[in-house]
Amino acid sequence: MSDCIFCGIVDGKIPSNIVYEDEEILCFHDLEPQAPVHVLIIPKKHYDSADAITESDEDKELFGHLMAKVHIIAKTLGLDKGYRLVCNCGEDGLQTVQHLHFHLLGKRKMTWPPG
Ligand code: AMP
Ligand code: ZN
Repeated sequence: MSDCIFCGIVDGKIPSNIVYEDEEILCFHDLEPQAPVHVLIIPKKHYDSADAITESDEDKELFGHLMAKVHIIAKTLGLDKGYRLVCNCGEDGLQTVQHLHFHLLGKRKMTWPPG
């Protein structure tokens, strides 16, 4: 999508600090980190939010792949004591960027419940 920040990052038009990239997904550091380690993992293909995921074979393959990479990325970032994976969806979920993304946070003790 032309007016999407994260599509701009995927296309290399907006700078980012990339941690991991392959054909399907991209992981880069969040601009406003909420923990000592805070990266975003996104599908390169534009999805507005988690609401846009379907049960199609394509989506199963893509999100199965993305989820299987999470702990590998976490280990490369030194998150040996655990981490939190967050997906904010929609207005109540406080989603601010309308390109589906998963926050991976770590290197501090998290609290629960989230705000
Ligand atoms: P959410 O509120 O779940 O939609 O999260 C959006 C996240 O994107 C926030 O944590 C922002 O700090 C982050 N963000 C917005 N623009 C950029 C950018 N250009 N590069 C990296 N992170 C960004
Ligand atoms: Zn996008």
